[in-house]
Amino acid sequence: MLGYRQFRRNVRLSLALAGAGLVCGCSGAVHQLPQISKDNLSLALAEVQSVDGRPQRHTISDDEVLDTLDSVLRRIGPSADQVCREMNTGVCDWDIRASADRRLNANARPNGRIEIKRGIFEYADNQEQIAMVVAHEIGHQAANHLERNHRNQVTGRLVGAILLGAVGAAVSHGHRDSAFVTRTAMNAGAGVGGYVGGIAYSKEQEREADYLSAVILYRAGLDLDKARGFLVKLATASGQKETGLLDSHPAGPERLAAWDQAVREIRASNGRLPQRQ
Ligand SMILES: [Zn+2]
Repeated sequence: MLGYRQFRRNVRLSLALAGAGLVCGCSGAVHQLPQISKDNLSLALAEVQSVDGRPQRHTISDDEVLDTLDSVLRRIGPSADQVCREMNTGVCDWDIRASADRRLNANARPNGRIEIKRGIFEYADNQEQIAMVVAHEIGHQAANHLERNHRNQVTGRLVGAILLGAVGAAVSHGHRDSAFVTRTAMNAGAGVGGYVGGIAYSKEQEREADYLSAVILYRAGLDLDKARGFLVKLATASGQKETGLLDSHPAGPERLAAWDQAVREIRASNGRLPQRQ
């Protein structure tokens, strides 16, 4: 028989679990993104596995780096600006800089800061590939991922606290130190929730940044297939320690497969943004 006390506990727990659904309910992306099909994934995997040798770095001068970035920005600037204003949700004033750091990486920071590390220039075969990386970081800014990620982590922490706090309350009910146990559980829950929230969102956000990058390049009239080569490069280079690669970005066949599906969709819609979540 379910006593009153037991019933109350169950209500509290199910409320907490409903709250936990919030963590998974929102992806942190602005748009609905295509799902990766198994076929696309196995094609991408086969392609990456068939590449011989690892990507080659070529040395370039500082002037070349700056000239290339200038040229890339001239080519994609107008369409990037257009996409950002159309989305009307993120940061559209960017401070884009090349850094001397030779790692193969780039990042988007608060206040529209975008850093393209030198390794990107040294490994790229053409401007399209660099444009893809720059437009990817612009995508993070345009979709306000930094701010959303922060919000999500706060939400994740809150939900985690509610969830484990309720468990703590249920377990410790009637115990003399009940309040203390609950508070401890809440603290532990906050850590778990924040972690789960942050991880879950960033993967979707990475996919969205790639999608937006493809839209920007498409609208700018750049060759998306040339740009794609960089993802193949990243996929073959990932796992090789020497390149000091991409701790902050997913690289691999999934990313390539997602790019292919995005490009198919973008070509079919003539460069439209996908539906919002
Ligand atoms: Zn990214």
